[in-house]
Amino acid sequence: MYDVIIVGAGPAGLSAAISSREHGLRVLVLDEFPKMGGRLLGQLHQEPSGEWWNGIKETEILKEKAFELETEIRCGVSVYHIEKPDDHYLIHTNKGVFTASNVLIATGAAETAAPIPGWTLPGVMSIGAAQVMTNVHRVRVGEKGIVVGVNVLAAAIAREMQLAGIELHSMALPAKNTVTKEQAHPRRVMEELTRISHLAPSAFLRFGGKFAKGMSFVRNLAVNFYPKSGVKMWGMPIHIRKAITSINGEDKVESVTMCKVKPNGEIIKGSEETVEVDFVCIAGGLYPLAELAAVAGCPTKYVEELGGHVPIHNEQMETPLDGLYVAGNITGIESAKVAREQGTVAGLSIAKRMAKKDSPIKRQLKKAMKNVKKTRAEASIQFHPGIEDGRNRLYKQEI
Ligand SMILES: Cc1cc2nc3c(=O)[nH]c(=O)nc-3n(C[C@H](O)[C@H](O)[C@H](O)COP(=O)(O)OP(=O)(O)OC[C@H]3O[C@@H](n4cnc5c(N)ncnc54)[C@H](O)[C@@H]3O)c2cc1C
Repeated sequence: MYDVIIVGAGPAGLSAAISSREHGLRVLVLDEFPKMGGRLLGQLHQEPSGEWWNGIKETEILKEKAFELETEIRCGVSVYHIEKPDDHYLIHTNKGVFTASNVLIATGAAETAAPIPGWTLPGVMSIGAAQVMTNVHRVRVGEKGIVVGVNVLAAAIAREMQLAGIELHSMALPAKNTVTKEQAHPRRVMEELTRISHLAPSAFLRFGGKFAKGMSFVRNLAVNFYPKSGVKMWGMPIHIRKAITSINGEDKVESVTMCKVKPNGEIIKGSEETVEVDFVCIAGGLYPLAELAAVAGCPTKYVEELGGHVPIHNEQMETPLDGLYVAGNITGIESAKVAREQGTVAGLSIAKRMAKKDSPIKRQLKKAMKNVKKTRAEASIQFHPGIEDGRNRLYKQEI
């Protein structure tokens, strides 16, 4: 019998474990992956300040703190059901059923698919899988590849692969179909590009991105006159007027077919070219992994700015179900730093619920909520525009 069971040992889950252990709660953290750290483990990027963000090191800091506080953490345990038949939650896992007064779901995000013909060939993987193979397992995913999908995550991971010495031909759009829609639309993708331009290595690109960000006519011009050879970032061409229409090969990836596209994403017939590669990374974007919260009976809302369906919750990370909390990317797609701060808020909220009398927790909670906002405002990686606005509307129940 625990005070709180935390599902997910990513930055949100681990920091929640720390803040609730600091208030003496009996905590159990469960994660289905063999190692703790969640998606933090794969992250490695340079901040605009020049500092490096190394997810493995950040995980170590959280891990050490959690162990100092004698937190019980079990990896390799998959949670598939949560119910509350009486006063307590029952957490059903592949290693048995656990009981707790409170549950925090911090399951993170999942990748959206971008299906294109040939995507079942060996050698095709999601960009997140390439990140885990490269940075977590230290496995080279291939000799020369291409990234299908142009977005924040794709740019960050493409750079990580380059740093690991893996050759990438370019990044290009997926061909337009009923699933890819927005991801295949050059004008929409241009908006995304302007949001990552501050990470670009050249001052020219950073300036261009800043300029285009505020003015839609500049973005339209940029799409209409986008260079045929792409715009290079870290020496790798990014194409938004070219799309991958198929992945080709007998038993494994041998090449892709690339076509020119109009500003609305329509394929220009007769423009096909073959690009030889031995692996393909599909980058369709991220969505909150909210299924477990739904299974537990928590209502969800679709909030575009947050990346999809999210469990209804307030700024203190409480859901409408008594004793059920959420934190991190399950509440909206944001950077690991924001997830970590949200975890602290959730841990303190649970500690506040369990506290017998009025305690200093209230003040700490207020401060932690402020930190979430500050971290969000300063975040170098923003996955979706208008995230603050989306959150405010959700918190004020305007959605
Ligand atoms: C593929 C991918 C790559 C990303 N790359 C970056 C990046 O480079 N930079 C960046 O800032 N952000 C990145 N993100 C966003 C990332 O999700 C956040 O940065 C941050 O890691 C979110 O923290 P979290 O604690 O909410 O979730 P996560 O870090 O995703 O941790 C969730 C944990 O929950 C566990 N879990 C999920 N379901 C269950 C279950 N049913 N039972 C038990 N355990 C479960 C998972 O194994 C995982 O360890 C990426 C996200 C994904 C999906």
